[in-house]
Formats: sequence, C-alpha cells, structure tokens
Amino acid sequence: MAEKPKAGAAPKKGGAKKGRWNLYEKKGDELERKNKSCPKCGSGTFMAKHANRATCGSCHYTVFESQSK
Ligand SMILES: [Zn+2]
Repeated sequence: MAEKPKAGAAPKKGGAKKGRWNLYEKKGDELERKNKSCPKCGSGTFMAKHANRATCGSCHYTVFESQSK
C-alpha cells in the first residue's frame, strides 16, 4: 500500500471566534470589555446593547442609558 500524503488538515467546524470572546477587545496587554456586565449576574454576564438601553439576557435587568444629546 502506498502512503498518501495528507491533503492538508480538514477545516474544523465551528469557528473559534464564536462566544464571549468577541465581547472583548485586546488593547496592548489588556483585555477591554466592550459591553457592560450585568450588576446582578456579575462580570461574567454581559448586557445586550440596544439603541438606548442595555439588557441582561440572563435576568432581564435593563439599564437605560442617559442621552446626553
Ligand atoms: Zn443579569
């Protein structure tokens, strides 16, 4: 039997870019959170941003953002 050369590694399904990591932005050596975290659920739970408010998907805590304009 002749050995077949591998035709490159098969692309893995499910991108690694998914999940909470896209809520972080790397700034130098530090990670900066893009979204607010829920004060009720803790820093591990992020608030979903809306036009004028942020809502926690876990406990539905909502913060209305004061508009300065
Ligand atoms: Zn919450």
